[in-house]
Amino acid sequence: MGKPTGFMEYARELPLDRSPKERVRDWKEFHEHFAEEKLRTQGSRCMDCGIPFCHTGTLISGMASGCPVNNLIPEWNDLIYRGLWREALERLHKTNNFPEFTGRVCPAPCEGSCVLGMNADPVTIKTIEAAIIDNGFAQGWVEAEPPAKRTGKKVAVVGSGPSGLAAAAQLNRAGHLVTVYERADRIGGLLMYGIPNMKLDKTLVQRRVDLMAAEGVKFVTNTAVGDNLPAAKLKKEFDAIVLCMGATKPRDLPVPGRELKGIHFAMEFLHANTKSLLDSKHKDGKYISAKDKNVIVIGGGDTGTDCVGTAMRHGCKSLVQLEILPRPPDARQPDNPWPEWPKVYKLDYGQEEAAARFGADPRMYVMSPQKFVGDADGHVKELHAVSVEWTRNNGAFVPKNVEGTEKVFPADLVLLAMGFLGPEQKILEDLGVERDPRSNAKAEHGKFATSVPGVFAAGDCRRGQSLVVWAINEGRGAARECDRFLMGETGLP
Ligand SMILES: Cc1cc2nc3c(=O)[nH]c(=O)nc-3n(C[C@H](O)[C@H](O)[C@H](O)COP(=O)(O)OP(=O)(O)OC[C@H]3O[C@@H](n4cnc5c(N)ncnc54)[C@H](O)[C@@H]3O)c2cc1C
Ligand code: SF4
Repeated sequence: MGKPTGFMEYARELPLDRSPKERVRDWKEFHEHFAEEKLRTQGSRCMDCGIPFCHTGTLISGMASGCPVNNLIPEWNDLIYRGLWREALERLHKTNNFPEFTGRVCPAPCEGSCVLGMNADPVTIKTIEAAIIDNGFAQGWVEAEPPAKRTGKKVAVVGSGPSGLAAAAQLNRAGHLVTVYERADRIGGLLMYGIPNMKLDKTLVQRRVDLMAAEGVKFVTNTAVGDNLPAAKLKKEFDAIVLCMGATKPRDLPVPGRELKGIHFAMEFLHANTKSLLDSKHKDGKYISAKDKNVIVIGGGDTGTDCVGTAMRHGCKSLVQLEILPRPPDARQPDNPWPEWPKVYKLDYGQEEAAARFGADPRMYVMSPQKFVGDADGHVKELHAVSVEWTRNNGAFVPKNVEGTEKVFPADLVLLAMGFLGPEQKILEDLGVERDPRSNAKAEHGKFATSVPGVFAAGDCRRGQSLVVWAINEGRGAARECDRFLMGETGLP
């Protein structure tokens, strides 16, 4: 601990984001960077407490408390305070293969459980994480490190999101020959085609993929296992398989008028937008445009926020985001104490941009969509919704429509962002992998072995839709257990 009194002397400070009105005019990242001096000051606020909850990654009430990849946070805070950037980078890479992703998109459960957060503002852990890796790349310290020896074993990884990439990186490090199959035309899963460019620049994803390719990982795109590549062929040609296909089946909204034109799943909108941006800077027109449209986003999570941010950049005419849950409180409630994940109201980047243009947070809480109404051409023109109240029914909270509260919203484009129902089933059926009651690949966390010997599962296809940091945790864990299966023992963490 560099400065024992740092937490008493300095306040928490974050780099300012680019102004909402300016940043909606482009697709560049909205984060600004901090000067080194500021980072050192912020690092000095870390108290190096006896029990650093920030790196535990424990589940409390089903939510992560502390860092799920167990980043060695107090160690690198201290190293940054002392200006030892290279040492900090080494510590960071010990636990996290891709800090440039988590340092940008992680909701930072570490900060929610920082001991300083009990009675002051927590340490700016996520900002420091991003700065360590960005500086590492800028200095040329992050280089391809191919394994010294190959084992001769072959592993197929299905899916190239953060879990697949983490599994591939670790298995390659152990000396196995790894091939990653991806059905999309670019590698990265939701890092590439889910999270938009302004939150995570795609050149950073490609930079990491190129580094892994230089280390010996083989990437095969446009290949859907179970479709244009039979799963049985994979089983025959590889010594082990790690399934990392994500949870890509979207939850639908079966209300009258759902079949009207102009109603899309969020991922159709987000995927096409990023692909067109990367392919042609939107010149090919192969995306669903929100320009001059009344846009309704249904669902208030990360996916909904990304739809809001994307529609704002297209230049939508109006924007409403419906959320069925109540607005979270501004501060922790007694039933949500530290070090639990703080369930508090947050103005995320997309809502901040909408508020700057239209004057208010676009989210409307406790609202439930009832029906869509179309025009003569079969195109959506209205959404009818009602307010709900949450009541207890046999112990469970359920929403109940409140009579007389119907509202009608003009709608030219509706984006359904209500979560995901699990992985697509075909490949699991073809391989004979058992499913859990939520249709995910059944495998215990920590072991990651499915019901089929030699087949492992990690990330959203095992745990259901989650976070990038959990996907990295699972990819690393599945690689460790796969290595043990192949070699009888493992040196992987
Ligand atoms: C729009 C959106 C925004 C999000 N924002 C955040 C955020 O800000 N922060 C955060 O922490 N988390 C966020 N998440 C969640 C996070 O992205 C996921 O939890 C994480 O990407 C899961 O990683 P994964 O590797 O398990 O799966 P994915 O990233 O979903 O990758 C799975 C890959 O497998 C491929 N695939 C599927 N089936 C096959 C097959 N049969 N053959 C070959 N390939 C196949 C898919 O094409 C996909 O590329 C967001 C999710 C969405 C949808
Ligand atoms: S990965 Fe997430 S939880 Fe872990 S240190 Fe980084 S921001 Fe915090």
